[in-house]
Amino acid sequence: MDLTFTSAEEQFRLELRRWLYEHLPAGWGTPGYQYPKTYEEWVALRRQWDRTLYAGGYAGLSWPKEYGGRGATLVEQVIYFEEIARARAPEELNRAAKLLLGPTIIHHGTEEQKRRFLPRILSADDQWCQGFSEPNAGSDIASLSTRAVRDGDTLVINGQKVWTSFATVADWIFMLVRTDPDAPKHKGITFLLADMRTPGITVRPIVQMTGSGEFCETFFDNVRVPMANVLGGLNQGWQVTATALTHERGTLAFHRHAMIRLEFDELIDMAKRITRRGRPVIEDPLLRQRLAQCHSEIEMLRWTLYSNLTKRLRGEPAGSEGSIVKLYWSELYQRIVELALEVLGPASQIADGALAEEGGRWQHRFLKSRGDSIHSGANEIQRNIIGERLLGLPR
Ligand SMILES: Cc1cc2nc3c(=O)[nH]c(=O)nc-3n(C[C@H](O)[C@H](O)[C@H](O)COP(=O)(O)OP(=O)(O)OC[C@H]3O[C@@H](n4cnc5c(N)ncnc54)[C@H](O)[C@@H]3O)c2cc1C
Repeated sequence: MDLTFTSAEEQFRLELRRWLYEHLPAGWGTPGYQYPKTYEEWVALRRQWDRTLYAGGYAGLSWPKEYGGRGATLVEQVIYFEEIARARAPEELNRAAKLLLGPTIIHHGTEEQKRRFLPRILSADDQWCQGFSEPNAGSDIASLSTRAVRDGDTLVINGQKVWTSFATVADWIFMLVRTDPDAPKHKGITFLLADMRTPGITVRPIVQMTGSGEFCETFFDNVRVPMANVLGGLNQGWQVTATALTHERGTLAFHRHAMIRLEFDELIDMAKRITRRGRPVIEDPLLRQRLAQCHSEIEMLRWTLYSNLTKRLRGEPAGSEGSIVKLYWSELYQRIVELALEVLGPASQIADGALAEEGGRWQHRFLKSRGDSIHSGANEIQRNIIGERLLGLPR
């Protein structure tokens, strides 16, 4: 493993750090900064941040320059995620489109689709959502039953998607539909791009336990989508999805690692501040051991990421190591936020209002972290992949 960065990479890091310093919303991260209060305000802020990144040349970092991207190297992408985490920059609203959909259009799209969709993803003029999951198709996505029937130059869609993040604010959806019900289940699927303003689409937000309503149910009632919006050919959706999902993992885990490190440092500070029976909680020897364990595990995550990166730089395939990383970071993070609630003690029961310690942010993180072992491939599925593909265990 080579752990040094070249001078060009260090230069990239410095420029990005300076750019972030100059372009983050004024006062961002400083004490007293007024963060948005409502979901709608957060969405507006994140959308504006996408536009700022685009103007600064930091949208579509990995995309080739001919499609408006930056053509950044793998290491530059890692540096980008480390730095935006370090600056605690707002999360991009159109991240799924930039990381998953854009590269998939570049790979499978027609010239017309590339011209039409790619620039508007980068500029944040089109906000996208992902319509894969259905009430009876999540981990086993190939069981999906939303139907699309050909009628001349259009496909007519009927069915329902669920857990569609940000569907209420999306302009477009990339989705999977069943176009050949008689074919084996992996073969009759089509990858489709649909305008969310098409008549027949209804979106209903689902309020999550965090209180936020970014998840949605999305219903399709005789929705007509032009055949020109099929990506990668009719009934070819499974291969197209495979391309999309290889882009889902990639370098984003470096952002997770950096964010976990930052939040863990906050936890240490909190354990020094909060007292119990007249002494700072951090002096409790059992707690210290658990904090030390978390610290070691965060470092182990970091080295695992660098080890995987080294393999990719050597041209070796990404393999199933991504499953180890997903499993590891999501469970480590859940342990850290649980530990934070223990540090808060009885005060952890008050999450809102003036009496909430630390503005209730640990309680919010705790509730939100439950989804981390479900999205992007549930952890049981990651365990199956590790067992079967890495350890060679029987199915
Ligand atoms: C924060 C978040 C954001 C999301 N955003 C989107 C989005 O924008 N668009 C979208 O389409 N979807 C989205 N999802 C949905 C997500 O992709 C699914 O929740 C996920 O694929 C799991 O599917 P499921 O919920 O139907 O659970 P199921 O697949 O029904 O699984 C239920 C339980 O059974 C286990 N299980 C299932 N199959 C096996 C097996 N073969 N072996 C062992 N255990 C198994 C699972 O691990 C899980 O514990 C999001 C989910 C979360 C949490």
